[in-house]
Amino acid sequence: MINNVSLEKAGHLLQNAESVLIFPHINPDGDALGSSAALCRVLRNNGINAWVLLEEDVPEYLKFMDTEFCTQDQSCIDEPDICVCVDCSEEKRFPGRVDIFNSGRLKLCIDHHVTSGSFGDYYYIDGDEAATAQIIYKLLLAMGAEIDSCVGSSLYVGISTDTGNFQYSNTTSDTHIIAAELLKKGIDHMGIMVALYQNRSLARVRLESMIVDRMEIFSEGRAAVSYVDSAMLEKVGAMLEDAETAIDTLRDIEGIEIAAFIKEKDDAVKVSMRAKYWGRVDEIAVRFGGGGHAKAAGCTMHMAVDEAIALIKKEITNYLEK
Ligand code: 5GP
Ligand code: MN
Repeated sequence: MINNVSLEKAGHLLQNAESVLIFPHINPDGDALGSSAALCRVLRNNGINAWVLLEEDVPEYLKFMDTEFCTQDQSCIDEPDICVCVDCSEEKRFPGRVDIFNSGRLKLCIDHHVTSGSFGDYYYIDGDEAATAQIIYKLLLAMGAEIDSCVGSSLYVGISTDTGNFQYSNTTSDTHIIAAELLKKGIDHMGIMVALYQNRSLARVRLESMIVDRMEIFSEGRAAVSYVDSAMLEKVGAMLEDAETAIDTLRDIEGIEIAAFIKEKDDAVKVSMRAKYWGRVDEIAVRFGGGGHAKAAGCTMHMAVDEAIALIKKEITNYLEK
């Protein structure tokens, strides 16, 4: 853990602000949005002018969440008292909002990425927490804030999605204790499960089948790589976010220790990597300027898909043979 502020102090700063702007990372996932939504809702309940600032639409699969205070309007608050980045701790994780972030009178960072360094005026970064939502839960307790079913649901989405629904090695007794406390708040557990995991569009399933078709297995069956490009999306009428779960399908194959998935996006490619049991993908991602966690990491590469695949395959092969 690296921090220069306690959760009590961070909570005190937030409660005494008049306006707070919250910054989840780009391509926000369940944890980034859930953590941001929960914090925003509590601040609003306390009469604070709070918004969650995004640089894209809320992903379709997360629209069931409490995203009422998510906006792309960069002028929603004039000179915010506090800008807080959530589930990220570097400018390149919110590239289209850096100027607004820096316009905050005070800059706070709450994150759980092991590859993160100190960032902002005040930072609280704990790589041992499975999800940023767990830190937000503890922050809300430190603030003495009421966690109702709405706030609880957002936190539960964050914890569930970042632990692979309590499957991954980051899941601890603490994770289950917090989840249990959230269930006591009367959240709709099954509603959340269906929305997150049992609600795949036909286009998504068809896209995944194409992705599996194009998959390459290498390094003696221990690694898998595949990709998605715009032609594939067009063919099945899918959106890029429909490729979000494909990386799990690759990792879940018997014998695979490391999986990589490459998404063509504008003039760059976004790489997602997963390790199953003993591997560490954060070590591979940092070699390409990215980062993340031991079992889930990523990076952005400015090159064509086939070039990225070749480089990634080489790095993974080196790693597995070491
Ligand atoms: P995903 O593959 O789901 O996009 O990301 C997996 C994990 O790696 C997430 O925790 C995410 O925050 C982190 N991650 C993904 N891409 C990057 C990146 O370019 N830089 C850093 N520092 N972390 C990343
Ligand atoms: Mn997270």
